[in-house]
Amino acid sequence: MSSFSAINADLHCHSVVSDGTLTPEELAQRAHANGVQLWSLTDHDELGGQERAKAAAAALKMDYLAGVEISVTWMGQTIHIVGLGIDHQDAGILDGLKRTREGRGDRAKQMAEQLLKVGIPGAYEGALHYAGNHDLISRTHFARFLVEQGVCKDTEQVFKNYLVEDKPGFVPHRWASLDQAIHWIRQAGGVAVIAHPGRYKLNAIQRDELFKFFKDHGGAGIEVITGSHSPDQYQEYGKIAKQYGFLASRGSDFHDPSESHIDLGVLPLLPEHLTPVWSVFH
Ligand code: AMP
Ligand code: MN
Ligand code: MN
Ligand code: MN
Repeated sequence: MSSFSAINADLHCHSVVSDGTLTPEELAQRAHANGVQLWSLTDHDELGGQERAKAAAAALKMDYLAGVEISVTWMGQTIHIVGLGIDHQDAGILDGLKRTREGRGDRAKQMAEQLLKVGIPGAYEGALHYAGNHDLISRTHFARFLVEQGVCKDTEQVFKNYLVEDKPGFVPHRWASLDQAIHWIRQAGGVAVIAHPGRYKLNAIQRDELFKFFKDHGGAGIEVITGSHSPDQYQEYGKIAKQYGFLASRGSDFHDPSESHIDLGVLPLLPEHLTPVWSVFH
């Protein structure tokens, strides 16, 4: 089992098909160059890059799992669910994701209206210019435009000051429900994983409710080693994986060479006492 945990798997990253800046081919090459042995492209709410990612991985002889990161609203909060090992041509998940993407355009227009009120014009067109896929205009694209405009020095500062709750560019949005997202992933043959659990603002009771609800509805894993966790959180979520009987996942959440502080595959290996999510695919 030990060598099994020790493989360099990176099961979370984004391409130009969602809010990343590299193509699926560029990501495959970068992952391979960094020693990744098992890779997954997990664009937000979109499977349009899967064919290209799979082909690029095959050309490099790197193992690949088709993936996605689904935006979910649970108890008024946005939660991200990664689906791994799905059939990327499954009609059910394709339809569900299409519906999840709807509303991003209107939300973006509302965000731009709010930004205009605080003296930032042209944000809708500006953000759209950064969106490689116009169906998937996201806050990240607004963040890049605001940096370009000199409003903030980096995207991190834009999120802090503009694009989160109670800030002038934030528009609440209702995404898929948690049980729907798990269902789409499972019926497409995949495994559902809670992305970066340490990022959600949940108290201990809410967190327990989330994990129990997720498990009761067929969810199987959580990210333990992710670019979003601190070393303390690697420990904390390793324990939680054991406690709830979750499979453990590992992924950088890489978006862009200069924005992302963790590169593809460059993060600690999964602790050996955990059962890796990839164990179900071998
Ligand atoms: P959206 O799906 O449009 O709400 O955008 C969510 C995306 O914004 C996430 O997937 C991240 O890529 C990015 N994001 C969210 N919070 C932050 C943050 N604090 N700093 C940088 N990027 C963030
Ligand atoms: Mn993102
Ligand atoms: Mn996420
Ligand atoms: Mn992500």
